[in-house]
Amino acid sequence: MRFSEFGLTTLKEVPAEAEIVSHKLMLRAGLIRRLASGLFTWMPLGLRVLRKVEAVVREEMNRAGALELLMPAVQPAELWQKTGRWEQYGPLLLRMSDRHDRDYCFGPTHEEVITDIACRELRSYKQLPVNFYQIQTKFRDEIRPRFGVMRSREFIMKDAYSFDMDEDGLEVSYQKMHAAYTAIFERLGLKFRVVWADSGEIGGNKSQEFHVLADSGEDAIAYSEEDNYASNIETAATRLADGARPEASQPFEKIPTPGVRSIEDLCGLLDIAAEQTVKTLIVEGTDGPIAIVLRGDHELNAVKAQKISAIASPLTMADSATIQKATGSEPGSLGPVGLELPIIYDHAVANLADFYCGANETGHHYAGVNFDRDLPQPETVDIRNVVAGDPTPGGTGTLSIARGIEVGHIFQLGTKYSEAMGATVQDRDGNDRVLSMGCYGIGITRIVAAAIEQNHDDDGIIWPEPLAPFDVVLVPINMHRSDTVREAAEALYDELQGQGLGVLFDDRDVRPGVKFADAELLGIPHRLVISERGLAANELEYRHRRDEDSRDLNREAALNLLKESTIR
Ligand code: ATP
Ligand code: MG
Repeated sequence: MRFSEFGLTTLKEVPAEAEIVSHKLMLRAGLIRRLASGLFTWMPLGLRVLRKVEAVVREEMNRAGALELLMPAVQPAELWQKTGRWEQYGPLLLRMSDRHDRDYCFGPTHEEVITDIACRELRSYKQLPVNFYQIQTKFRDEIRPRFGVMRSREFIMKDAYSFDMDEDGLEVSYQKMHAAYTAIFERLGLKFRVVWADSGEIGGNKSQEFHVLADSGEDAIAYSEEDNYASNIETAATRLADGARPEASQPFEKIPTPGVRSIEDLCGLLDIAAEQTVKTLIVEGTDGPIAIVLRGDHELNAVKAQKISAIASPLTMADSATIQKATGSEPGSLGPVGLELPIIYDHAVANLADFYCGANETGHHYAGVNFDRDLPQPETVDIRNVVAGDPTPGGTGTLSIARGIEVGHIFQLGTKYSEAMGATVQDRDGNDRVLSMGCYGIGITRIVAAAIEQNHDDDGIIWPEPLAPFDVVLVPINMHRSDTVREAAEALYDELQGQGLGVLFDDRDVRPGVKFADAELLGIPHRLVISERGLAANELEYRHRRDEDSRDLNREAALNLLKESTIR
């Protein structure tokens, strides 16, 4: 591809709307352009990368025996009503109606449609197991679209759905996808981790996520090498600490804490550690407000909270009027002592003695609070996020926390959808059996952003080679004034293309500095500089995007090096 004919505009300035590096670089390098909130055009350069991701995903899915199909993006409401998700999915679902006033949605996922296919197409155990997949545009009306294509509203997903006779069959299909996903992310050259996960809206039993590790990742991952454990923090379990609670040693007293609104304020005022305090949050319950008590330095885990039947789902914090009415105090001074609300305690609170908490009176706290004396012995549950240093759920390791970007998610759905929609097949004995389903998603568009988060420097993108939009960039110096350079560059361009390499030929009549800066920004793995001086010595200047320095190679050596390093 000749740069002059590629219609690519790179940007020097960092666009104001971009917060994270991948979004900045995708805009600067001209991979994507924003149309509206959460909607992006994939420009020709970006589309080349996207197609590479798709190709790897498609190859590995096919290798795993999955069958590609393509379902409609627009789905009739009736299917979603059958599974109850028309109501459950909430505002994430983009709903619309046609000229006959029939309701539809733009598919955020395709369990209903594929189960409808299964109802119609699958009749006998002889057709199983089967796994259908597609690579297709999804729409989710995300509350906070951000980070460009990382969390957009319209995005491309590879979604696959397996059908088996029973749970054992499902486990086999699931493990096949686990292996296929591992192969995909390895081939894409990304550093990733597989973690236990929550099944969320989609439902089902067992699920795991594939995360590309990056500091900007929206998800926190708890892991322990020694225990071979990794989980999304959403589902990483905490344990009731071993050992007895220390004896009460301090008197229970009320202390004035004017202006204190947070644990941080309280610790600052009294010069105490957050571990000596508890915080009390009021959330909506299924039957009025409920208090949740956590150690001051811990965070509430929404996924765990929502699974507790007395707590409303989705988790909703009570507003300040409700809090005032239920407790008589402002939110900064709440505590369990004397609180006339149902109280849920986190496990970590059980081992506290002589702790501090709000007195349910604005501007006042209690000090020296002890269970079995000032409060009844608490029953505790697991309702907080794990933190670094916590024991693993198995108890033999210690957790560390890393950040990740969820690029893939595999689920064992079981019979949730097949039962709701009546998807059965006849077994060997002629009996109807409800199908066991699995579903498997990969965020194709998100992978491109995630790859950049993991592979960049101050000057731009550094593509992992399997994702690079071009293999080589040719940078001729003063080509528009030197016939020698022009002829050599044109010949090289033809020859490299003839070898099947993706070549970006920077034939623009611009200063060498501009070409070099763009070559860095675009992140193409191999760069060859063609200059009059070099040609006189039969040399080309070669640099890999990851190398510190360039080196001069004779033409043949340069061509051989490219040939060898681009064999796939
Ligand atoms: P998230 O937790 O990031 O919102 P999810 O768990 O809702 O994602 P899944 O239903 O598991 O997403 O979808 C499968 C894959 O689709 C995800 O692993 C992710 O890579 C991708 N994906 C989901 N939502 C988006 C989005 N808004 N923008 C880009 N990719 C997305
Ligand atoms: Mg997910």
